[in-house]
Amino acid sequence: MTTMTLSFAAPDRPHWSDQERIDEIHAAPKIGQHFGEQVSDHMAVADWTVSNGWSGDAITDYQPLAVNPANAVLHYAQEIFEGLKAYRHADGSVWLFRPDENARRFNASATRLALPHLPEEDFLTAVRQLVATDARWVPDPGSGEKSLYLRPVMFANDDFLGVAPAGKVRFAILGSPVGAYFSDGVRAVDIWVERHEVRAVPGGTGAAKCGGNYAASLTAQLAAQDRGCAQVLFLDAVEHTWIEELGGMNFMAVTSDGRLLTPELTGSILSGITRKSILRLAHDLDLVPVERRISIDELHDAVRAGTVQEAFACGTAAVVTPIGALVDENGRFELPSPIGEVTMTIRQRLLDIQFGRVEDPYGWTQQVC
Ligand SMILES: *Cc1c(COP(=O)(O)O)cnc(C)c1O
Repeated sequence: MTTMTLSFAAPDRPHWSDQERIDEIHAAPKIGQHFGEQVSDHMAVADWTVSNGWSGDAITDYQPLAVNPANAVLHYAQEIFEGLKAYRHADGSVWLFRPDENARRFNASATRLALPHLPEEDFLTAVRQLVATDARWVPDPGSGEKSLYLRPVMFANDDFLGVAPAGKVRFAILGSPVGAYFSDGVRAVDIWVERHEVRAVPGGTGAAKCGGNYAASLTAQLAAQDRGCAQVLFLDAVEHTWIEELGGMNFMAVTSDGRLLTPELTGSILSGITRKSILRLAHDLDLVPVERRISIDELHDAVRAGTVQEAFACGTAAVVTPIGALVDENGRFELPSPIGEVTMTIRQRLLDIQFGRVEDPYGWTQQVC
């Protein structure tokens, strides 16, 4: 074993930043800044090979995965993931929210990334076993919305630099206790409307939950943070006109005549389970859900005319995040009701179902232990 120092003449900070900017970014309010800092004791793992299929499925101690420098995922990003949560109810029991939807979407993502399918029941078994094993890591919700975030991931595990779908794949799930996204009460966040860079393109991977989509969104995220915005609103890649979604959350707007508007799924928008659930909840909250194309100009006009008073972003991690203002090169454009009544009603209703505070008439919640 030989180790020689290379004496790199490397700058001590990233190229995109100076120290002042790094400090600002760290100090700025962010969505989910403590996400996944802590992990639970165990993880689920399994391996797949093209000749033998799945094997080695187990719950093990949480530990680093050994990765060969030639591992294909490091070079070609053949990778997918999921995100769901385990919730503790007041009686101490632990529940999942629509995990079958995650299992199904995981395989849809796998198809797009040329990864193998994991049978839905095996995905669910792995999730349930990990949660049961690490049940003590599922926090009491407390006053807030604490839960155990679960992150299934599947990635190419070949040690081979040729560009081809992996013949070896690894699956893992890790758990991370998370607090409320807003530790000091729900706040409205400003959103940067990105008019140049795009998250996803027609025919691309936008509808798959894959790491590459996130890598492509980071420079826009930095631009947003530079303007004091917590998140980016991406527009379509062709006309730079139609609202798609945020980097990791779907977009919704509430009209004054009781419609809940969200961009229709075009193939470059991720089909969120929170989005789908809220569209279903809308009926029972006397809202009319409408999925259609929405241009950024239409949104501006509607806000100006007062026909859209509130808008929000939704996803598993932050549940429902009210949008306070849309920001772009032309300035800051405020929503009249930054923490809107309808937004907060939807938010509360969803959380109440997830934490078992109200009856779940939809059969969305499943008890683990
Ligand atoms: C995960 C994700 C969402 C939200 O999906 P949920 O199933 O509601 O958590 C939205 N957009 C993108 C790009 C995502 O990756």
